[in-house]
Amino acid sequence: MSYRLTAPAPGWTATTDVVVVGSGVAGLTVALNVRKAGLRAMVVTKAMLDDGSTRWAQGGIAAALGEGDTPEQHLDDTLVAGAGLCDEDAVRTLVTEGPGAVRRLIAVGAAFDQDEDGEILLTREGGHHRRRIAHAGGDATGAEISRALVAAVRSDPGIELIEHALVLDLLTDADGHAAGLTLHVMGEGQRDGVGAVRARAVVLATGGMGQVFSATTNPAVSTGDGVALALRAGAEVTDLEFVQFHPTVLWLGPEAEGQQPLVSEAVRGEGAHLVDAAGTRFMVGQHELAELAPRDIVAKAITRQMQAQGAEHMYLDGRHFGAEMWEQRFPTILASCRAHGIDPVTGLIPVAPAAHYASGGIRTDLAGRTTVPGLYACGEVACTGVHGANRLASNSLLEGLVFAERIAADLTARNAAGDLPERSVDVAAARSAEPAPLLAPEARAEIQRLMSRGAGVLRSAASMAATAEGLAALGRDAAAYLDDGKPADPRVETWEAANLHLVATALVAAAARREETRGCHWREDFPERDDAHWRRHLVTTLSADGTPEPR
Ligand SMILES: Cc1cc2nc3c(=O)[nH]c(=O)nc-3n(C[C@H](O)[C@H](O)[C@H](O)COP(=O)(O)OP(=O)(O)OC[C@H]3O[C@@H](n4cnc5c(N)ncnc54)[C@H](O)[C@@H]3O)c2cc1C
Repeated sequence: MSYRLTAPAPGWTATTDVVVVGSGVAGLTVALNVRKAGLRAMVVTKAMLDDGSTRWAQGGIAAALGEGDTPEQHLDDTLVAGAGLCDEDAVRTLVTEGPGAVRRLIAVGAAFDQDEDGEILLTREGGHHRRRIAHAGGDATGAEISRALVAAVRSDPGIELIEHALVLDLLTDADGHAAGLTLHVMGEGQRDGVGAVRARAVVLATGGMGQVFSATTNPAVSTGDGVALALRAGAEVTDLEFVQFHPTVLWLGPEAEGQQPLVSEAVRGEGAHLVDAAGTRFMVGQHELAELAPRDIVAKAITRQMQAQGAEHMYLDGRHFGAEMWEQRFPTILASCRAHGIDPVTGLIPVAPAAHYASGGIRTDLAGRTTVPGLYACGEVACTGVHGANRLASNSLLEGLVFAERIAADLTARNAAGDLPERSVDVAAARSAEPAPLLAPEARAEIQRLMSRGAGVLRSAASMAATAEGLAALGRDAAAYLDDGKPADPRVETWEAANLHLVATALVAAAARREETRGCHWREDFPERDDAHWRRHLVTTLSADGTPEPR
């Protein structure tokens, strides 16, 4: 049984060779690279081209570019952060192809910070034993990468760009091979409303799912749509329980919701300290790298201090940097703090953990192929096996680049071998898929509250049972509306709410199932890592009644 979002039948059709969903580092890199093989590409994106997490990335991109550093050392640090669940082949691919991928990004036009001799400046971040993080504009790395890639795709007439287009579901041919997708375009003219794109292959690069939680560093578009679509299409997703909470997100008050400003790890990399209200450095003695311990360790330590002291946040102290360093090295963070009435030059920065990165996602092989033929995934929406139970800082932009290039290489090779024919969409099968009930727009905030309360940094069987029951109740309400013949009106807000609901339900099911503490999954009731039972992945698919089932 396959499922689809409740939506009107497509009123228009477009055709291309490769349709790419999402315009972050991953999606745009696929589009640019399939063009080299002469294939036409269409990039479909939910908002503007530069809306997505890529533009917000601050710290940088990790690659063994420095003197004395090697891919082998980068591999070691990545495996340690991944807490026993990384796929070593995937990591080896990442770290060996990474330096070349960064150089190719520079050739596309991305300008990284350099010293007077033209050497790329490298900084350190948590979990890295070397300076290997290349950055741009001080702390505006993602904005520069996005600027360069957007300029490159805009100047290629073989890449068609459709903005303000929410992709709904996958279309397949009679053999079950991906053959296109349905989407809703907010616009006027020939492509207004729900339509269909026919393609020889489909690439999902829809980014993360941070919006399933109340407080997140992710932008509003990160609603997990790609994972929800893949589940409905019958694909396997994996490692959903491993959500990385960034330890140092600017704390804006107890009621703050939605995207929150990040205070990059690079601030600690350059020597800022984590302190409590009394000024005590609590990371010293907890880990050999102190404030630069892997993110899960720091997020847990902050959460523990907050609980022990009954505090809502801890502090970051970077006053010793002085005004000049703040202005030159961290201009974005300085401006964002000052916009909220905090001056890091003279005062402490209040920080608390918030949802940041989905280490899991749609399961792929090393060529970015999912378990549905012709459907590819890369970037944050994918689970290539690189991150294991916890992503090493600044490996995500690199993963997006490297695996996007590999997808393009696979499509290029298939095309050359005559293995990328045009596909005819099985329209009857597409419409006969079971329509999944939509949720009212207000459900979004309720899902976020349930998830933050019960499936956040610290989890237990009881907290997750309460969250699962709350989510199930929302689902029952939505189904009841459907039975009454009054489904929530199909539109962007209700489609996104349905996607958030499905992804949240799948995430909680996996997190409840994993009865151990590992990487960024922290169980209060199972505080130890349990390799004997749990050094394995949970793979989730939808059951016959549409419920996510982790196995
Ligand atoms: C504040 C912040 C700081 C970060 N700092 C770093 C860092 O320093 N280093 C690092 O390596 N990583 C960092 N990350 C993580 C990194 O930025 C992301 O993992 C990476 O950019 C993801 O790239 P992507 O191309 O997969 O997705 P995104 O850049 O998130 O792009 C996803 C795209 O998909 C589109 N989309 C989503 N759903 C749909 C749909 N249904 N239909 C059509 N389009 C859709 C979106 O509009 C968007 O264009 C940071 C993340 C955040 C939020």
